[in-house]
Amino acid sequence: MDYKFTINLPKTTFLMKANLSKMELNLISFWNNINLYNNQCNSRLFLLNDGPPYANGNIHIGHAFNKILKDFICKFKILSGYKINFIPGWDCHGLPIELNVEKKYSSKLNLNKFRQLCKHYALSQIKLQMISFKRLGILCDWQNHYKTLDKSFETSIIKSFFKILETGYLYIGYRPNYWCFKCTSSLAEAEIEYYNKESYSIYLFFPINNILKYNLSTIGFLIWTTTPWTIPFNEAIAINKKFNYLLISVNNTGYIISSNLYKTVLKKIGIIKYTIIDQLNESFFKNIKIYHPFYKKNITLVFSNHVRNDSGTGCVHIAPSYGYDDYKLALKYNLKIKNTINNKGFFYNTITMFANLYYLNINIIVINLLIKNKTLIFKEFIIHRYPHCWRHKTELIFRTTKQWFFNINFNLIKKKMMYFSDNIIKWIPDNGITKMNAMLSDRFDWCISRQRYWGIPIILFLDCNDKLHPNTKNILNQSINFIKKYGTDFWYNCDVFNLFNINKNKYRKVSDVLDVWFDSSVVYRYMYDYYNHKIPHDLCLEGNDQYRGWFQVSLINSVSNFSITPYKTILSHGFILDNKGRKMSKSLNNIILPSDIINKYGADILRLWASSVNYSHDITISNEILLRICDAYRKIRNTFRFLLSNLYDFNKIDILNYNNFSSFDLWILKRLNYLKNEILNNYYNFNFHLIYKKIYNFCVEDLGAKYLDIVKDTLYTYNYHSNNRKNIQVVFFYILYNLLKLISPILSFTSEEAWEKLNIKESLSIFKSTFNLDVIIFKTFNTFPILLFFYWLKLFFIKDIINKNIELNRKKYIIGTSLDINIFIFCNIFWFSLLNKFKTHLTKTFQVSSVNLILCNTYLPIFSKYKIKGLFFIINKSSYNKCERCWNKFLKNYNINICLKCLHNMYYI
Ligand SMILES: [Zn+2]
Ligand SMILES: [Zn+2]
Repeated sequence: MDYKFTINLPKTTFLMKANLSKMELNLISFWNNINLYNNQCNSRLFLLNDGPPYANGNIHIGHAFNKILKDFICKFKILSGYKINFIPGWDCHGLPIELNVEKKYSSKLNLNKFRQLCKHYALSQIKLQMISFKRLGILCDWQNHYKTLDKSFETSIIKSFFKILETGYLYIGYRPNYWCFKCTSSLAEAEIEYYNKESYSIYLFFPINNILKYNLSTIGFLIWTTTPWTIPFNEAIAINKKFNYLLISVNNTGYIISSNLYKTVLKKIGIIKYTIIDQLNESFFKNIKIYHPFYKKNITLVFSNHVRNDSGTGCVHIAPSYGYDDYKLALKYNLKIKNTINNKGFFYNTITMFANLYYLNINIIVINLLIKNKTLIFKEFIIHRYPHCWRHKTELIFRTTKQWFFNINFNLIKKKMMYFSDNIIKWIPDNGITKMNAMLSDRFDWCISRQRYWGIPIILFLDCNDKLHPNTKNILNQSINFIKKYGTDFWYNCDVFNLFNINKNKYRKVSDVLDVWFDSSVVYRYMYDYYNHKIPHDLCLEGNDQYRGWFQVSLINSVSNFSITPYKTILSHGFILDNKGRKMSKSLNNIILPSDIINKYGADILRLWASSVNYSHDITISNEILLRICDAYRKIRNTFRFLLSNLYDFNKIDILNYNNFSSFDLWILKRLNYLKNEILNNYYNFNFHLIYKKIYNFCVEDLGAKYLDIVKDTLYTYNYHSNNRKNIQVVFFYILYNLLKLISPILSFTSEEAWEKLNIKESLSIFKSTFNLDVIIFKTFNTFPILLFFYWLKLFFIKDIINKNIELNRKKYIIGTSLDINIFIFCNIFWFSLLNKFKTHLTKTFQVSSVNLILCNTYLPIFSKYKIKGLFFIINKSSYNKCERCWNKFLKNYNINICLKCLHNMYYI
């Protein structure tokens, strides 16, 4: 007889091989068909404020990672009983889009046409990015996504701009600001990156009037600079009143240097022989005249605390148009502030000696002038950190232009922001607070104007003294109505002088646009204006570069508009690097695109990877890492499959008819309950990598190596209707039902696929269920005695040792499986009473043919290799017959080839 047909073989349509790339597409249409996002059934709100990616180019792995993390949290919230508000958005204005349009249409375009093309370009990019984001399985409001170019969004921007203008935060400043010659625009601090750069490093001499009493041929200040090109525009020398200054004689020339720095400086410029002539006091500095090193002009001496005593000479050259500290001193001492360089880096043709030259090209001219005037003391090249444009990676300078600034010290706004940062906002990881506070305390006024075209126009009229039109309030109020209807294009399309009744001869229209960071700083407010989402929102989650970017500008906007924080919690994540810790770049050929991973493995693999990493640091990804993730995925999937395949005949009546669980069933249910608490706790604290690890370990160790392995025999060989089998099915169902929910925020596709195959469930989609609706019967196992838990641990410990011993002796005994083995356990009273409690479980637990317990009070030898005190066992090969049905050994004393247990289960139940 072929007993195969009498065995309860597992059955399921949940395949071993996932074929995710196809299955996932089906599930995306399923979610669309049931309109999952819009049909959320909970009412308690969770508001996620989605930071907008820039509408340019394909999404990279960082974009995907960011949206996936957001999805983890939102789905966790849904299953915890919340209704989520997750409206994705895009940043649509700004230079990169302009540059792309310029590249495509080389001929000169008129402004309206140009803006139109920029808009089309941005929309086309959004379309592409949205397809990629949707493919990740993100549950959000794709239909109502926001764009910073939408009329409704533009309205919020102008409203917000109006509010801060009205309150008094904005001013026009003629002052130095970071300038990129490639952008031909001023930059915000958030757009600056520091890289190494090779520069001239020169020491030069600013002579003063000779003072006879010292009997020196000449006296002067020694100063150090890395920007020789600024020397022609020097207006002053700054020293610090707190420092001591010395007059040092070298070859009959007197150098004025700070007493803290003179040794280092003289050593650097190669001077060994020198004499300190005098310590200089205030009256010395009061009575001197300083001369420019090559121009015939007098230089002012100024005092400033910004002069430092850790580098340079303690005497600082001041060029008011080319440095922020220099500019502040110029205001204080009434020095000349005049920009001499055009927006592309060339000197204006009115600048004598340097007309039309590129600013860096005059370095050598200046040096030659210094040499000629015998005022160059030392010259070398150095490598130092220098600000660069984050888009172009080109060197920046401070350039003095007329710009609109947000006054970061007005109305105690800095203090208010610090207050929210310190007391209200929750930072994850918790060093976020330090980063934010450092950024806030160091920050300058925010330059919000750009000399570009593709952006939100600054809707203002100014007179020749830069005074606002007296009717500005009305103009802005009216504009808001126009923008609602026509968008900000009206500012360019209409005759706005006529529209607002402005005298063209007295007033001019501001042609600048707003910094794009201003646009995105308004997202929180747009959500309030348009959707009435209450401020603050629950969460913002972005890369950790946003402490200087979006997190900060949103806070500035919200505190200046409403005196409130825009968010309750900030979660920031690191950047994604290759396995050698390098940034991904074309030149390194190490780019891994989300689409590559999805096409090859499926989005769930990408999602599982995203859950496996600790996002609080930079994160690595590589093909090897992905292969490991695939392997882990297979183990989790096969666990689901095994559970499902033994539930094909399971139904509600089975739950109702369940009998008492065995102590082994109770053990795994207790473990599961423990796991569930841990997982929910880790979701709550956003520790996704721990969730991944714990679920994986549960599948592999608790289920794979213990529970499933041991109960297999009962499931397959006990009678189909037997209580033993039915009880295990109840346990299986409960495990699967919980595991699927617990992992569904991460493995959204796979868990939905498996959920569909469950015979009993409360909702069509797993994302319409909750963590809390447990099936009623399972409350009983909460009474599971903790001691029993401990006993099972001991039992597994012994099993492990037995297995290792069998492995060692496999050859000696010619053993096939462990089922061929008899085991004799000699033990002291402790082990005996423990094992005796589990007498009926031992054969199954150890998966051997028989277990014989022998209480032994005499001396017990200790295993040399695996020591357990008070316990000793020997194994031998069973001489019994193998049951043809269940493969267990049995004593054959009748004429059939199957064991009594099988006989009983086949015929007598
Ligand atoms: Zn640039
Ligand atoms: Zn059998």
